Amino acid sequence: MEAKITKNDLPVFDTLKKVFGFQSFRPNQEEIIRSILGGKDVLAVMPTGGGKSLCYQLPAKLMDGTAVVISPLISLMKDQVDAAVENGISAAFVNSSLAKEETAAVFRRLRNNSIELLYIAPERFAMPNFIETLKGVRISLFAIDEAHCISEWGHDFRPDYLSLSNIAKTFPEAPLAAFTATATRKVQDDVIAKLGLREPFTVRASFNRQNLFYRVKSKRELASQIMEVLKKHAGEPGIIYRTTRDSVDGLSGFLSGQGIKALPYHAGLEQEERKANQEAFSKDEVHVIVATIAFGMGIDKSNVRFVIHADLPKNIESYYQETGRAGRDGEPADCVLFFGREDIPKIRYFIDRISDDTERDIALKKLNQMVRYASHNVCRRKQVLEYFGEGYANKNCGACDICTGKVEKVDITTEAQIFMSAMSRTGQRFGIMHIIDIITGADTKRIRELGHDKIKTFGAGKDRDKNHWRFIADELLAQDVIYQDGGAYPVLKITDMGKTILFGKEKVSALKREEISKKPRKGKRSGFEEYDKALFERLRALRKRLADEQQVPPYIVFSDKTLHEMCRRHPSALPEMASISGVGDAKLERYGNEFIEEIKTYLEENPDISIQENRFPDIPSERSGKPKGETFEKTYELFKQGLSIGKIAKARSLAESTITSHIEQMIMDGRDIDIDRLIDPAKRDEIGKLFLKLGSWQLNPVIEHFKGTVSYEEAKVVRAYMRWNNG
Ligand code: ADP
Ligand code: MG
Repeated sequence: MEAKITKNDLPVFDTLKKVFGFQSFRPNQEEIIRSILGGKDVLAVMPTGGGKSLCYQLPAKLMDGTAVVISPLISLMKDQVDAAVENGISAAFVNSSLAKEETAAVFRRLRNNSIELLYIAPERFAMPNFIETLKGVRISLFAIDEAHCISEWGHDFRPDYLSLSNIAKTFPEAPLAAFTATATRKVQDDVIAKLGLREPFTVRASFNRQNLFYRVKSKRELASQIMEVLKKHAGEPGIIYRTTRDSVDGLSGFLSGQGIKALPYHAGLEQEERKANQEAFSKDEVHVIVATIAFGMGIDKSNVRFVIHADLPKNIESYYQETGRAGRDGEPADCVLFFGREDIPKIRYFIDRISDDTERDIALKKLNQMVRYASHNVCRRKQVLEYFGEGYANKNCGACDICTGKVEKVDITTEAQIFMSAMSRTGQRFGIMHIIDIITGADTKRIRELGHDKIKTFGAGKDRDKNHWRFIADELLAQDVIYQDGGAYPVLKITDMGKTILFGKEKVSALKREEISKKPRKGKRSGFEEYDKALFERLRALRKRLADEQQVPPYIVFSDKTLHEMCRRHPSALPEMASISGVGDAKLERYGNEFIEEIKTYLEENPDISIQENRFPDIPSERSGKPKGETFEKTYELFKQGLSIGKIAKARSLAESTITSHIEQMIMDGRDIDIDRLIDPAKRDEIGKLFLKLGSWQLNPVIEHFKGTVSYEEAKVVRAYMRWNNG
């Protein structure tokens, strides 16, 4: 086709330089622009930050008439128009936010053919008057931004977009260019069909975002892990995604308490507040926005330097979309995913509720791909690109934790065989916890009743502790040697690959990864002199009450400095409390327990706040699985003798809640605790399902739900069990 007559002869490159100030095109921009100038329809699938706007703004400047851009987001139109006007393009928009007179003024300019670039909202096309007006105007091109909104298969379907299917028929002369960052073929084909694109010039840009660094970290002490990332990006804008509204509010509050300028964003907030928060973020008035996935399309902010996922996304598509919001300006940006296996059953819970079989299977498959992304030792970039059907040949991408990390390979074939043998000899009908109980020779009632102490692998791995076996289980899961099947308490099954290993035909090794940090490693706790202000307020109130009771000034009880340290280190037992500066024996005895209880309650109410590992280097770590002071050992001994929690409490003259917290900790430490003795399996199952449904580990909602039939103790035990088993 002949090129449309241009109103000036500025060649394409000159316009790029003079109007937009850019030295060169980004990949595919030039081809797209030349197609539009040649009157051809276009379908451009380009990643976020790929530079789609330029592809229609440049032709708008070059071609005679008005370029009509349909864009779904009113909130962005003004920014885009302002930016275009800044570049000397005669641009305007029409949407519901304009007053009547303003709209009339735009229409006048339109009829005078004095608008080069007109942004409109899709619902305008459902208005016959508007189409009549357009018919009287010379149109250079139509551009459909976020074109995937026309597809029911996409994630942002907008019924308004369906009215756009008339454009090609009503305005057959003008080229129609559709732009989207949604990469699936199904959506792509749907867009072509629905818009009636006429043999469009189709480009699928590479989805490789070279400036994004992908990293996955095990989710352990989330709050301090996030703080670490924020420290690296101090004062820089970033987004933190969380799954639930509560966790968004919790984390946002926590960060604010740490002196970070952060705001929440989720669908539960009033629209006004949401808008204000987004605006504050856009304008760099706050640095961090903590959000659910409701926060997305409306952000054109180009200087987002990091995107953190504090919870597992449900598939790679979503992950790619959300991380795509980082580094639109092409400058380096970080994408960090905190991966904890406890997130998997939460997503599975929702997937299990999809009624359509095919849809459910697809969702499950996608979740598995996401888990693989996070847990396999394969270049992250390669995995993302392969997901979108794009190969990646480079051996080392140079910008993901896998490619830049140090890897040590250890053979775990024998351990894998022991593990699978225990599974196989028990009919592949048990979960991780039980299999590890067998391997480590645990003496539990359940094992005896089932006769699992008689099988050959019973105790075959007792030279290593449970945490080691948990590591083996994770590796085998990650490498598809075994898999989890079922809902709240999944059972383990052996895959075909697993069978070849079990029968000695293949070997399996685990990769131990170590990130090589560019800067010399700092001491673990250095620099963390902030403290949790919300917790501080609570401890201060407690201090006031205790001081009033004693009729002494509060600083006599504890100084501020002491409370600050408690807020940082979260002591959970007397020996820990004793190591806080300012806590002597007398005060330890008089106030220790009350402060410990207050901190515990606070942490339970705010599950997002996690405590720092090794925060008491001189006291045995909680995760070592080793005895943790005499008091735990005594509880453990009595429990092993068959005493109930109530009896142990009596025998030791301690509160039942204290004994429960010992038991809870021991479950988390992977010690032999026969859970069936503590809670009836059917009841455990019910409580477990509720935790998953609620998507949080908070106790109160669970207690409330069961209206007094479930105690805190029971809920705590189930929670610990689930965390260990699924986490
Ligand atoms: P998309 O809509 O594809 O997500 P945008 O059109 O918003 O991307 O462009 C992202 C950023 O890249 C913008 O800041 C834009 O000014 C910039 N950009 C676009 N094309 C170029 C180019 N050829 N050279 C330099 N920067 C560009
Ligand atoms: Mg865009």
